[in-house]
Amino acid sequence: MEAWFRSLGEKPFHARQVLKWIHRHQVTDFDRMTDLGKGLRARLKEQAGVRVPAVVCDQLSADGTRKWLLELCCGNRIETVYIPEADRGTLCVSSQAGCSLDCAFCSTARQGFNRNLDAAEIIGQLWVAMKELGDGQPITNVVLMGMGEPLTNFDNVVAATDIMLDDLAYCLSKYRVTVSTAGIVPAMDRLREVSEVSLAVSLHATTDELRDELMPVNRKYPIAELLAACKRFVAGDRRRRVTFEYVMLDGVNDSDRQARQLVRLMQGVPAKINLIPFNPFPSAGYRCSPRERIDRFREILSAAGLTTVTRKTRGSDIDAACGQLVGRVHDRSRRQPGRRMLAGGGL
Ligand code: SAH
Repeated sequence: MEAWFRSLGEKPFHARQVLKWIHRHQVTDFDRMTDLGKGLRARLKEQAGVRVPAVVCDQLSADGTRKWLLELCCGNRIETVYIPEADRGTLCVSSQAGCSLDCAFCSTARQGFNRNLDAAEIIGQLWVAMKELGDGQPITNVVLMGMGEPLTNFDNVVAATDIMLDDLAYCLSKYRVTVSTAGIVPAMDRLREVSEVSLAVSLHATTDELRDELMPVNRKYPIAELLAACKRFVAGDRRRRVTFEYVMLDGVNDSDRQARQLVRLMQGVPAKINLIPFNPFPSAGYRCSPRERIDRFREILSAAGLTTVTRKTRGSDIDAACGQLVGRVHDRSRRQPGRRMLAGGGL
């Protein structure tokens, strides 16, 4: 924006003023940007505009979780979710319309990939949520855990998260802005170089054989390479840890043996582990592990000294839980029902 102001023959510092108006004060009307001169305001009105995503639908869950369906240009729709907790408010932001990675247990995968969001569409989700929530419900954390794979939309995700951390904009802590990846190894290394955001990795399996099946991206970046990249990501910063997400799939990845394998994999990786109860969706082909199984799995990890939390499922009554975000309702993929469903039936 500084370069743009320069190209108009204006002082670049106006970029900082405008950034503050838009992101700190949620003002999009140039006439209300009162520290800009009248002439400049008139020029801005002629030559620029501030556009934000349109809210198409706004749903509130019984547990306080709120989900917005947002319409971007060209008719693409994405979802953004706010999850209030006692000590924090987390916004879950999408990075793509649809997703190309085709993870077997995720409903976003079923709609296929539509397109990358640009930086404005990513930061626009935070803007809309702040505006909608008002002062009473703060956003203290942002996770890029909505629709899409953030690290295959690298430049736009970095540009948007930079604004989240910027003192003139949202001023969020680097420990509270988290990019979640299915494990795009080269992009993890680049992220470390250009950004300070925190990293979460969707692991979900302890062997390449199973991970290949659940997450096709593993065929390109198998577990050993992924974990080596995680170690590089946190190297040199003792406060940093990678958050590993592990979705609990009944009879698939939730045995005692797999818990012990996970303990071995985590050796030497500064890690926190989030166990995510699987959130079902029509024709998912998987079931969530029973509560006792999840508890037992967690105990094995905790007993081995791993910080492990079982995530509470939030907002499932409005399809706002992990893996349930679809944006647009129809199913564009030709995926067959998971073979476990065909084998096990009864879902
Ligand atoms: N592509 C990124 C961002 C998506 S984050 C990633 O893979 O990390 C969304 C998280 O929810 C991921 O950990 C994903 O694996 C998980 N998830 C997907 N479908 C799910 C489902 N049905 N139930 C629970 N978690 C799911």
